Amino acid sequence: MDYFTLGPAAMYPRTLHIASEQIPYFRTPEFSAQMLAAKASLLNILGAAAHSELLFLTASGTGAMEAVITNCLTQQDRVLIINGGTFGKRFCELCAYHQISFDSIDLSFGQALTDEMLLPYAQKGYAALLVNHHETSTGQLYDLQMLGDFCQRERMYFFVDAISSFLTDSLDMERTKIDAVMIGSQKGLAAGPGIAVVALSHRVCEERVQNIHCPCMYLDFKLHMHDMQRGQTPFTPAIRVLSEIFDMLEYVQEIGLEQKLAQTRHVAEHFREHIKKLPVDLPHHPLSNAQTPLVFPKNNAQSVFEQLKSQYGIMLTPCAGDLTDKVVRVGHIGNQTTQKNMRLVAALSELIQ
Ligand SMILES: *Cc1c(COP(=O)(O)O)cnc(C)c1O
Repeated sequence: MDYFTLGPAAMYPRTLHIASEQIPYFRTPEFSAQMLAAKASLLNILGAAAHSELLFLTASGTGAMEAVITNCLTQQDRVLIINGGTFGKRFCELCAYHQISFDSIDLSFGQALTDEMLLPYAQKGYAALLVNHHETSTGQLYDLQMLGDFCQRERMYFFVDAISSFLTDSLDMERTKIDAVMIGSQKGLAAGPGIAVVALSHRVCEERVQNIHCPCMYLDFKLHMHDMQRGQTPFTPAIRVLSEIFDMLEYVQEIGLEQKLAQTRHVAEHFREHIKKLPVDLPHHPLSNAQTPLVFPKNNAQSVFEQLKSQYGIMLTPCAGDLTDKVVRVGHIGNQTTQKNMRLVAALSELIQ
């Protein structure tokens, strides 16, 4: 099966062998050293300022989103959420769940976020802006510089879910003044699901995390920060997934971050170039390199997805809800090549030409 999925993503052969090996015991100086090296490497990739924190949580990506909300916000806060699809909506649901009031900028499918849309929300006293760098349900990539500038003008914290944009679209915590970044193991890192990473600015740790009582002990950042000083976690982590992450970080270090980003961009652009003649449309908002959403004018997206899976051994990423018949998503994250693209383009041509 050829995977063009958005998580779990197509894994690299070099990472696959880890799942067949004995899981290492983790309360050792050797494991701690690997954790601290991974922390340094991730903070470096994220362009984090000195004294930033980085935590490994055993959870899926949503666990990191929820943990940032419960460790960095209180019921006295009001926040602003960019809600452009399933994952923006998840921020709204999490805030509602934890009784944190919010306003949301709601976008319909295909609608790009602009600077003007932010204007009505200026000087309203929001504590923070919550956004998904790449809204995976639609493919829209938001402009972090524009949003970061808004947050700076408004003196708001800036929390960015980079779960599906990590290692596919560049992000610089220091330049765009981001206070919290969330990452998941099964997306850009092309590892198994089970680990979520949170990077935190020094200021949000000092001003928020240290002074807030997190209602969930398991995800209390204070406990995680304390143990992470020596490269450990308070509870048993998903060790095998961590080993896969260590391996991927080694790979990124070997080829270089810029090369890794360029590779994914190249694969995405190559695919978009080669489907120009096919009767499918692309949304008009800015796109992440992580995927190409294909819009089917005849509303046969689901049937194309099924046929590719059963007849061609090609797994794309289907959409849910209103977009089920309209859109199917082609993931470019993880181990993707232009040769694999050509196989998909040929199959698509046969099916819909
Ligand atoms: C996948 C994803 C998540 C988290 O999903 P989980 O299923 O909890 O791992 C959150 N935000 C975005 C943008 C995602 O793509």
